[in-house]
Amino acid sequence: MGLSYAEENYLKAILKLSGSPDGTVSTNAIAAQLDTSAASVTDMLKKLSDKELITYQRYKGASLSEEGQRVATSLLRKHRLWEVFLVQSLGMTWDEVHEIAEELEHIQSDRLIERLDNFLGHPKFDPHGDPIPNKQGRYTLRAQIPLSTLVSGQSGMIIGVKEDDSPFLKHLNDKGLSIGKIVRVLTIDEYDHGLLLRMEGDDVVLSGQVADHILVKPVA
Ligand SMILES: [Zn+2]
Repeated sequence: MGLSYAEENYLKAILKLSGSPDGTVSTNAIAAQLDTSAASVTDMLKKLSDKELITYQRYKGASLSEEGQRVATSLLRKHRLWEVFLVQSLGMTWDEVHEIAEELEHIQSDRLIERLDNFLGHPKFDPHGDPIPNKQGRYTLRAQIPLSTLVSGQSGMIIGVKEDDSPFLKHLNDKGLSIGKIVRVLTIDEYDHGLLLRMEGDDVVLSGQVADHILVKPVA
């Protein structure tokens, strides 16, 4: 079925906002997510509903149909596999790949994606730590908590970020932080919740807000 980029982006936005497969998302939430007007969202939701990709109820909002969910999950799979490729095989940094993957994810070729998946060795997580759905649309979730919830003396391995926009990732790059690095909390500022961390022998200072957007797996 041929869908436009815009239609695909709506399905992805609904999946992202719904939290659960049958979750209903309001028109306003979609408008805010896609930075567009409620009127254009309503138009598009009617279109997607005609194509039976969503269930749309006028004052409640939209939820994905089974087919809509399949399409949205496959977009996530393509997006995240391309991100792994761009980082692992082309040597790009994790702050530059999201925008490019936003375009690559719309290429319609199951065969290309299966080849890519094989080539990469079936990765389970993208460079930002987000799970990659398999062909059947299933994915693994990991135990992850915000870095800001560790107490002093505790260590964690960075496994993801809550935000994948470039300025944020660039900030992390500048601090030397990336997926897989292990950090230990030395002190926490009681006033602004800033953290002093030890990473590979170096001290790193992070604001509480930034620490809140980094996901870690506690390590003993
Ligand atoms: Zn991305």
